[in-house]
Amino acid sequence: MNAVFITTFEIDEKYGTNYHQKFRNYIKMAEENDWTIDGCMTDPKGDRNKRPSELRDPDLYLRIVERRDDGVVIRGAKAHQTGAINSHEHLIMPTLTMRKEDADYTICCAVPADDPNVIYIYGRQASDLRRLDSSEFGDIDCGNAEFGGQEALVIFEDVFVPDDRIFMNGETDFCGRLVETFAAYHRQSYGGCKVGVGDVLVGAAATIADFNGTANASHIKDKITEMVHLNETLYSCGIACSSCGKETPSGNYLVDILLANVCKQNVTRFPYEISRLLHDIAGGIFVTMPSAADLANPETAKLVEKYLSGVEGVATKDRMKMMRLIENLVLGRAAVGYLTESMHGAGSPQAQKIMIHRLADLESKKKLAMKLARIDN
Ligand SMILES: Cc1cc2nc3c(=O)[nH]c(=O)nc-3n(C[C@H](O)[C@H](O)[C@H](O)COP(=O)(O)OP(=O)(O)OC[C@H]3O[C@@H](n4cnc5c(N)ncnc54)[C@H](O)[C@@H]3O)c2cc1C
Repeated sequence: MNAVFITTFEIDEKYGTNYHQKFRNYIKMAEENDWTIDGCMTDPKGDRNKRPSELRDPDLYLRIVERRDDGVVIRGAKAHQTGAINSHEHLIMPTLTMRKEDADYTICCAVPADDPNVIYIYGRQASDLRRLDSSEFGDIDCGNAEFGGQEALVIFEDVFVPDDRIFMNGETDFCGRLVETFAAYHRQSYGGCKVGVGDVLVGAAATIADFNGTANASHIKDKITEMVHLNETLYSCGIACSSCGKETPSGNYLVDILLANVCKQNVTRFPYEISRLLHDIAGGIFVTMPSAADLANPETAKLVEKYLSGVEGVATKDRMKMMRLIENLVLGRAAVGYLTESMHGAGSPQAQKIMIHRLADLESKKKLAMKLARIDN
C-alpha cells in the first residue's frame, strides 16, 4: 500500500493522471470494510532470460488484453500468493522494471478475490496431511496446531477491472519505482516477521535442551547464544531501515532502501544457520520419532513412553510435542515461510545485491580511501 501510495503520487505529478486520489479512496474502502489484501506481484515468468513481450506465451506475465472506456480486462497469473485464499482483495503490481514495448504489462490494480474469473490452485506443502491424520490421536504430530499458512497460484482469466480500481496503466517509466519501493518495505518487514519465527526457534532450542538434559553444556549455551545473536542482528536491521526512513512528497514514510536490502540479504542467510543450530541441539529424534498413534496404541504406548523419555519430571508426550514443533519449524510447513520464503520472498538474494551495489555510493567511499592514502584526484 505504501509503495502504491508513493508511486501513484509521482505518476500523477508527471502525467496529470488521478491515480493517487483513486488509491486513497480504495484504502478508505479497505479500512471501512476491514479487508485483508494480498500483495500480488510475482508473475510465473517462464523463460527468465526473456522480456515479457518477447515470450512465446504472452500470458506468463499478467497483462492487459483489452482496453475499454470504463476499464481494462486483464489476463495472466500471480504465483506463490501467500494468504490468497483468505484475502478479500488482490492488489496487483508489475513484477519487473518494464520497457516501452511492455506497456500492456504495466498494470497496477485491485481485484476482489471472489471475482468469478479468478481461479485458485492451492499449493502443496511438506507434511500438509499431518493436520488431518493427527486429529484422531491428539495434535502431537501436527507440530504447530495453532498456526499454518498457504500459498496459491492465482489465475486471472480475463478479469474486468473498472477504472476506479486502476492505479497504473502503461506508465512503464514508473514500474521500476513501484517494484523498488514495494521490495524495500517488504525487505524491511522481514526484519520483524522472520525474527518472530526466529524467537520461536530459540525458545524451542532452549526448551528441548532442558528436556534433553543438555541445557548446562557449554557448547549448547554457546549455540543458543549464537542463535540469539543472529536473530537480533536481523531485528536490528529491521529497526535501522525503519528509523532511518524519510518522509516522501506524497506524505508517507519510505524506509531506507539500502538498509532494507541489507536486512533482507541477511534474512536469506541467517535463518539457515539458526535452523542448523536447532538441528544440532535437538538431536535426530525429531525426524525419526514414532507417531501419536504409537503413543496411543496399547501395544506400543509403554515402549514409546519409556524409550522416548528425556529428563525426569518432563512427560514423554511433551518432549514429543516439542520435537514435532521443531520438525515443523525447520522441515515442515513453518520452514516454507522461515527458510524458502526467507530466501525468495521479496526477491531472491541477487535482487538485493544489485540494489546494494547501486546504492552503496562507492565513489564517496573511494574518495575517503584516496584522501587517507594521500592520493590526489
Ligand atoms: C513462501 C513464499 C511466499 C511468497 N509470497 C508471495 C506473495 O505473497 N506475493 C508475491 O507476489 N510473491 C510471493 N512470493 C514470490 C517471491 O517474491 C519469488 O519467489 C521471488 O521473487 C523469486 O521468484 P521465483 O520464485 O520466480 O524465482 P526465480 O526468479 O526463478 O529465481 C530463481 C533463481 O534464478 C535467478 N534468476 C531469475 N531470473 C534471472 C535472470 N533474468 N538472470 C539471472 N538470474 C536470474 C534468481 O536470482 C534466483 O537465484 C513468495 C515466495 C515464497 C517462496
